[in-house]
Amino acid sequence: MLDVRTCGSLAEAAGLLSADRQAHLIGGGTLVMRAVNEGRLTEGTLVRVTDPAFRQMNLGGPRIELGAGVTMAMVLARGELAFLHPAARSIGGPAVRTMASLGGNLFAGPPYGDFTVALLALDAQVVLQAGYGGGRAVALEDFLAARARGGQGLVAAIQFARPQSPGDFRFRKISRVRPKGIAVMTLAAHLPRAGGRIAQARIAYGAMAPTPIRARGVERALEGKPLDAVSLQAAAQAALEGCRPATDAIASEWYRREVLPVHLARLLAGDGR
Ligand SMILES: Cc1cc2nc3c(=O)[nH]c(=O)nc-3n(C[C@H](O)[C@H](O)[C@H](O)COP(=O)(O)OP(=O)(O)OC[C@H]3O[C@@H](n4cnc5c(N)ncnc54)[C@H](O)[C@@H]3O)c2cc1C
Repeated sequence: MLDVRTCGSLAEAAGLLSADRQAHLIGGGTLVMRAVNEGRLTEGTLVRVTDPAFRQMNLGGPRIELGAGVTMAMVLARGELAFLHPAARSIGGPAVRTMASLGGNLFAGPPYGDFTVALLALDAQVVLQAGYGGGRAVALEDFLAARARGGQGLVAAIQFARPQSPGDFRFRKISRVRPKGIAVMTLAAHLPRAGGRIAQARIAYGAMAPTPIRARGVERALEGKPLDAVSLQAAAQAALEGCRPATDAIASEWYRREVLPVHLARLLAGDGR
């Protein structure tokens, strides 16, 4: 049997999740409720959170904090987050975007997790809520590496530094069906520049490994370089480092490896289509 519990605070919800291995948080429910409706989830407790902090957005300062319950539609409604609109718009159709939360996207397995790719390129941190108050921030990359082991508890919020120039941030989702097909692959890049040279490049891929990953080889190839033909060539050569793409109904491993360098070059060249 499935039970539903409503919690007025994040701490209470985190306590329930840590005490009961069969408890699942409901974000927007686009994946959880599908599992319920399809009979894949029939036992345990569904935990709803009504704490306003869960959907809060702090956009004023250089560091942005978004509650994990913030939806794709809420991101799209805020001009301050315009650099993230292509990523939010790439998730499902309007009905899904109204429900789909940023927190839920962090847990969405392949072929989903497109927004998480954007957050990874922003070097985001994930705030985990402790059962009896307080929280701790972990790097999104570490969070994703640990995700497969489960038991991560409740994600309260996501934090990242605002790109100094919106043009430094790029996102590209490749799908066979437009505008809302699922991803052959997803790429995002944050390319801050100092004196015409790239400083602290962050590149992330989705659908090129079991979880979204950073493209460390590409980041190294670009670091300290101007974005010119030589550095783009070096980036293309390093494009596949660390990739372990799957063959699935959308594309084969071979195809994903073949086309990744092409899409990376377009992303770095600023072609966001
Ligand atoms: C028709 C359709 C199209 C879709 N298209 C896309 C797409 O193009 N791209 C894409 O990336 N996704 C897509 N999705 C998948 C999904 O809608 C999104 O990934 C969404 O962001 C998931 O968020 P949610 O709030 O609905 O997750 P939920 O269903 O609420 O939760 C998903 C999982 O995450 C856990 N969880 C949720 N929030 C938290 C939290 N704060 N702390 C701890 N655990 C949590 C839940 O317990 C559950 O295990 C699609 C889904 C549908 C049904």
